[in-house]
Amino acid sequence: MKSAKIFTTIIAISIAFASCKKSESVTPPSTSLPSTVTVPDIYKKIYGASSITSNGTYIYIKTTGAPDHGSAYYATSNSLYESFSGTTFGGASFKKNPNSIGTQNYTFKIPVNPQVASSHSATPLGPIGVSLNGVPFFNQYAGPNQPLTNEVVSFDQYWGHPSPTSEYHYHVEPLYLTTVKANKSALLGFLLDGFPVYGPTENGTTVSNAALDAYHGHITATTEYPNGIYHYHITSTDPYINGNGFYGTAGTVSR
Ligand SMILES: [Zn+2]
Ligand SMILES: [Zn+2]
Repeated sequence: MKSAKIFTTIIAISIAFASCKKSESVTPPSTSLPSTVTVPDIYKKIYGASSITSNGTYIYIKTTGAPDHGSAYYATSNSLYESFSGTTFGGASFKKNPNSIGTQNYTFKIPVNPQVASSHSATPLGPIGVSLNGVPFFNQYAGPNQPLTNEVVSFDQYWGHPSPTSEYHYHVEPLYLTTVKANKSALLGFLLDGFPVYGPTENGTTVSNAALDAYHGHITATTEYPNGIYHYHITSTDPYINGNGFYGTAGTVSR
């Protein structure tokens, strides 16, 4: 009888423990998490954003996409209008296209913890990432399978140009960022997969396409990521920013 009583006591204690544990594990469900969490400092480098928020999984970057630098594509009444003639990207003589700069309502949704994708998706036409001043990066095509060859002449004094839908964008090095706001080896933005984009030089050397993988990047330590990270480099020859698609699983952009 005595041992039976001890046995019941042990059972009662274990039940108490079990129920205690259970109630503890039930307390912090995801619904109790705040709807916004702190944005890692690195994204604050995107100085052209009108807002940057995070839910812990994605970073949401809102921009108008209009450049903060002078351009021949601004309306002459705009204070940022700056006439341009002469030589542009690749030594071509500038020839203005018929489009002009408008403002958009971009929200770039990029993963806060970028991950390599098991199958690499092609970059779309249109925005593939965001640069520090909020202007989108576009890929190496002027249209489906059309190289940029005939469009390079229309790059303005800072090597961007607007689309027929008034979306200003960079297919190549954003010259204002690499010469005025930052430098040739600086972080310049992020692609939609969350991996960072750097300028055309690294450790004092110009990065060549041959030094990069099929997606136009590699893994090394950078100033912002001293433990190493996959990152893209912008080079002076095709495909410029990205090669055969996103290295990581891409987020989205809405407008
Ligand atoms: Zn373009
Ligand atoms: Zn690098």
